[in-house]
Amino acid sequence: MIFDIVQVGDPVLRRPARPVQAEELATSFVQELIVSMRQTMYDAPGVGLAAPQVGEGLQIVVVEDDGPYLETMSAPRRAELRRGPLPFAALINPVLEPVGDETDEFFEGCLSVAGYSGAVRRHRAVRVEAMDARGEPVTLELEGWPARILQHELDHLAGVLYIDRMDPRTFTTNENFGRWWKARPVDEIKQGLGSGGSGGDKAD
Ligand code: ZN
Repeated sequence: MIFDIVQVGDPVLRRPARPVQAEELATSFVQELIVSMRQTMYDAPGVGLAAPQVGEGLQIVVVEDDGPYLETMSAPRRAELRRGPLPFAALINPVLEPVGDETDEFFEGCLSVAGYSGAVRRHRAVRVEAMDARGEPVTLELEGWPARILQHELDHLAGVLYIDRMDPRTFTTNENFGRWWKARPVDEIKQGLGSGGSGGDKAD
């Protein structure tokens, strides 16, 4: 089933999600939740979805960035964003740690803050440990855009939204982003929006 995606202002997006117990994972409720989250992510469409975004305060995320959108993006743009394919994964009780201290700042949006984007600085590489839908341990080592997707989704499990982390002067409707800023370097966009300083690639 396709869920309605909860929008910012709903308290479920601001409460830390609780871990899924081992015996709970096998229940039809949780298994069907995972299937429906995957369908809802494809329907949106999006590249990740966390359980609080469909109203469930559980530590479950689904991710996938391997679809038609990735294929239509130009090679230079993919390279700039370090946007490589991220195969589908359902992650239960995921834990993330940064790898190295490099960071990147790019615009991102959220299905729960529909219609807007903002520039967010995130770790370039991360390691994620979790269980899959069958309860088997999984470890993902990710860099670039896939690492950004995981950081965004795991933030949801802590009640954190990208708007908490963004450079607030860069907040924009997607319509105005397309009209004024599309395909420009983040540093140039930040200057145009009156945000000085720490754009680009430098670690902070
Ligand atoms: Zn989101």
